Amino acid sequence: MTGPDTSDRDYLDDAASRAVGYAATVAGRRVFPDAPALAGLDAFDEPLPDGPSDPAATLRLLDEAGSPATVASAGPDYYGFVTGGTHPAALGAAWLTSAWDQNAALPVMSPVTAHLHTVVQGWMTELLGLPGGTELAFVTGATMANAAALAAARDTLLAREGWDVQGRGLFGAPEVAVVVGERVHTTLLKALGLVGLGRERVHVVPADAEGRMRAELLPDLLAGHDGPVIVCAQAGEVNTGAFDPFEEIADWAAERRAWLHVDGAFGLWALADPSRAGLVRGLDRADSWATDAHKWLNVTYDSGLVLVREPGALRRSFYAAAAYLPADADGEVEAMHRTPQTSQRARVVEVWAVLRTLGREGVARLVADSSDHARLLAEPLRSGGLEVLNEVVLNQVLVRGKDGPTTTALLAAVHADGRLWCGPTVWDGAPAMRLSVSSWRTTAEDAARAADVVLELAGRLRSGE
Ligand SMILES: *Cc1c(COP(=O)(O)O)cnc(C)c1O
Repeated sequence: MTGPDTSDRDYLDDAASRAVGYAATVAGRRVFPDAPALAGLDAFDEPLPDGPSDPAATLRLLDEAGSPATVASAGPDYYGFVTGGTHPAALGAAWLTSAWDQNAALPVMSPVTAHLHTVVQGWMTELLGLPGGTELAFVTGATMANAAALAAARDTLLAREGWDVQGRGLFGAPEVAVVVGERVHTTLLKALGLVGLGRERVHVVPADAEGRMRAELLPDLLAGHDGPVIVCAQAGEVNTGAFDPFEEIADWAAERRAWLHVDGAFGLWALADPSRAGLVRGLDRADSWATDAHKWLNVTYDSGLVLVREPGALRRSFYAAAAYLPADADGEVEAMHRTPQTSQRARVVEVWAVLRTLGREGVARLVADSSDHARLLAEPLRSGGLEVLNEVVLNQVLVRGKDGPTTTALLAAVHADGRLWCGPTVWDGAPAMRLSVSSWRTTAEDAARAADVVLELAGRLRSGE
């Protein structure tokens, strides 16, 4: 071994001090790297080294060429996609967890992570008001949370028909009808493809102007199909933040004995905020829920959560036996038997750390504040002459200028300016800008300033500057 090993204090102190330096300055950074920073990535275009070198030099290169080419999504001025920042409680816990290097697959590999898993499972079901006994598992993000839930749904429904999917696959199995809303997230379709239910054989329920499933159309949808049904609803449409009418959907699902799954990648956290009770009504009646911790809970990437009401359903889909694996976990959670992964990093630790640090009130406030700040962004934009296309019920703001080309030009100006970042979308067939307030760091002042910047740039475009 050349140079310091991983127990070398100087090396790890250097790494920590570079990380602290980054975290301490991310708020002031240009939100998307400028051209020189991107050009600096050429520094990485080296041949594979023939031999060992000092890892301190590698770290220096990573910081000097890499840090400037990061997107400052951990700062307060990033409104792109639906991207959370990193809460300090998460970052600190992530560092210690990295040093631990636990394999969270099984209690025998990591008693501490298995134990925290049980704790967080209890906290999450309590925080979100989900039924007792609901099982939680950690995956890479909402895409895999959707896939894991849909696999559990598929296997549970077909087991009721006497069909063992894990043993026999889907060939020759009874038809499972899958219902989605028109505004279903693309990754839910990807998940359906992954679990063999198909991206395109879905029954699509039209959406209203906000993107909510029109539940009144459900009864007419599956004429002639009396086999198993999975209905996929959504808490938080990715453009508007809209919530499907869960009460009506759950009533229909109950009548049809359908499995109700909810993609709540960011929106599920609204369950923690008592002021959003109207929005989430009936959401607790689902059979499974997918969410992200790396979005609104502000842990580091990647971190998603799947929750399933029926105990043992995840295990039916994901159990894997081997002679060298223990037969009995003494009541602790065996993460590998609940997830598509086997070996896995200890995602639970950061989730635990943020929940413990914020508490019930803190999570509620995070949701309420982000949503208030989304309104603080939307109001001046609207009175300043831009069109806000959605009812700002949560943290998403959908904006358009006078027309499509004006909107595209405004977005280009925002990107060139670099004081904030938000992305494009298409809504009702025309370009729009999408701003998402998902970071614990974004304050009311930040939101007001972002609106000022957008209006200033829109004004300059209007006057032809
Ligand atoms: C972000 C998102 C997803 C996908 O989440 P990943 O964490 O990227 O896998 C799925 N559904 C909705 C509604 C989302 O917003």
